Amino acid sequence: MREQLKPLPWAIAQASATLYRHPDGWAAHVPFVRAGPVKKAEEQREANPGLPVTTVDPGENNLAVAVAWAGRKVTGTLFVPGRAHEARRLRRLAAIRRRQQASGRPTRGERSNRRRWARLAHAEEDTARQTARQIVDFAKQHGSQVIVFEALNRVPRTRRMGWTRRQNLRRSWWMRGRILTFAREMALWEGILVVLRDPAFTSKACPDCGAYGERVSRRANGRGPRLTFRCPACGFEGHADLVGALNLKRKRDRAFPPLGPLVAAAKEARQAKTAPAKLEDKGAWDVRLTRG
Ligand SMILES: [Zn+2]
Repeated sequence: MREQLKPLPWAIAQASATLYRHPDGWAAHVPFVRAGPVKKAEEQREANPGLPVTTVDPGENNLAVAVAWAGRKVTGTLFVPGRAHEARRLRRLAAIRRRQQASGRPTRGERSNRRRWARLAHAEEDTARQTARQIVDFAKQHGSQVIVFEALNRVPRTRRMGWTRRQNLRRSWWMRGRILTFAREMALWEGILVVLRDPAFTSKACPDCGAYGERVSRRANGRGPRLTFRCPACGFEGHADLVGALNLKRKRDRAFPPLGPLVAAAKEARQAKTAPAKLEDKGAWDVRLTRG
């Protein structure tokens, strides 16, 4: 089965060479194109629903959380922690901000800040590449032939944020795109296909029964996951950052629960948060009416 689905053999073709001027003289650029037949993801899934896959979700505190599957069985998990990187990024942004404020006006083009921006961008690129490498190596190690990512269609709202937070959020958003791009290239080289799934409710639905769940802090003495996912319907509890990757498998298998009830449950949960205040208001009115 594996032989049949492997997008091999690769055909390596030499594209036309270009000559260009180099500071030390002339140089020739000879591109090589590596191409191979890749089966359409959906055809692959239908032909073999038990195909080993890896699902990847960016967690709240991780750059990536990956789960390897053999059919419906989890064969491994990978956490690529992101807090250290985020802290470093925030420190760099704060330093740039301080310098900009000290100069009293935007110091665009000023040499020192330009260097700082470049260093920051380089660190982002480097971390994205390393994260992608870890994901692809993990998938390869577990014999996955497909990697499922979340489609990036939730643009972060940054309107009311301060400069540093806005920059930070934008950069983590951009980072996700870079991880996906690098992973796609690296995976293709290994003969692994990267597919995307809609991220709607992947972190909100229970990976066990599909009901709308909640994320709560269950941390004691700084141990355990920062956020725990809890399902009120079936009692499932687990690491909140893992839930997305678990649900992506359901999305991949077209077994994710219908969105309608989840949307309704989300609305209800929002209303429940504001309900007590409304009841108090009503109580006050009742008192006034009876007195009058
Ligand atoms: Zn449940």
